[in-house]
Amino acid sequence: MRITSNRLVCLALCLCLLAVSGAAQQRNPLPVPDIQGYKTLKCDFHMHTVFSDGEVWPTTRVNEAWRQGLDAIAITDHAGYNPNKADVPPDLTRPHALASALAARLGILLAPAVEVMKGDTHFNVLFVSNQNAFMGLDLPDALREGRKQNGFIFWNHPGWKQPAAWFPDVAALYNEKLMDGVELVNGTSYYPQAFPWIEEKNLTILSNTDVHAPAPASWENGSRTVTLVFARTPDLEGIREALFARRTAAWMGGEVWGNEAQLRGLWDGAVAVETPELKFGPNLRQLTLRVRNNSSLRFQLRLTKAPAWLTAGAVELRPEGGAGISVRLNKDAPAGTQSVELEFEAANLHVAPNRNLSVRLPLKVVVAQ
Ligand SMILES: [Zn+2]
Ligand SMILES: [Zn+2]
Repeated sequence: MRITSNRLVCLALCLCLLAVSGAAQQRNPLPVPDIQGYKTLKCDFHMHTVFSDGEVWPTTRVNEAWRQGLDAIAITDHAGYNPNKADVPPDLTRPHALASALAARLGILLAPAVEVMKGDTHFNVLFVSNQNAFMGLDLPDALREGRKQNGFIFWNHPGWKQPAAWFPDVAALYNEKLMDGVELVNGTSYYPQAFPWIEEKNLTILSNTDVHAPAPASWENGSRTVTLVFARTPDLEGIREALFARRTAAWMGGEVWGNEAQLRGLWDGAVAVETPELKFGPNLRQLTLRVRNNSSLRFQLRLTKAPAWLTAGAVELRPEGGAGISVRLNKDAPAGTQSVELEFEAANLHVAPNRNLSVRLPLKVVVAQ
């Protein structure tokens, strides 16, 4: 008996060890289609560690990004704000240096970066060569240093503490060509006042978490705020080129903001009609058009255009899910076979201020006599 119970203990221990190794982190694939010949990369270019006012070690940011399906991140600790300096040396090259080996091993692209600020006006500079060169500079000089280091520069959280506006200090920096993009989304805040600037001022859309605490558990399920980058090549140079070329979109809480052609590319790559032909009969006037969404994106559809003899219901295509759209014919429906297109508004895909993406589903309607 004794031996048996020892064996049982042994077995239990082994199972525990297996469970622990089996609980090693898993990656959420977070599928988003490639578009127009570009690779779609899921990125977060704004986050903090203990090297400024964050609560985690740099490698934690890499592990979180890998688990949550990201392809690229930037650690953007504040130059000149290090409340942890009694415990952590104020050397801003260290977060990137400490994270880079793990990032390389996991295949996470890591852009060297820094956050610079004056009061509540904050900017990030990506692709810098020396973060410590930004220490002690006032904001305009810091952004000039960013240009000198060939960095990509964007304005962070333009609507933090007050509604976003084209503030005079920011306008001066923009006029000096010290701004390439703006955060349309920071965390779970979307700044509607900033959306018109994207076209008016030729800015790149950014959408980042600005996470300071450990990433919340809900982000494991695809709810993390992301910048989608449409890159020629899935590497840092590809991201850099795409950012300067303004090929990005914001993705937060199921909503997407971006260029019309690019958002249409996401729709085309994500959605497939599973029942391209519906056969109606004299007593069969209502059928279900089945549609599949192969991406982690969400599409909220509302019919905007169809033949006068047909109506279709509104539907939400959930991430990696299918949905049925109820299609109903009225008595004027012509007999025989008709190829029609149903036009929907994708109410959560925003291509311009007050304008959402319009999408089409092709359908063959057969009406038997
Ligand atoms: Zn900030
Ligand atoms: Zn920040």
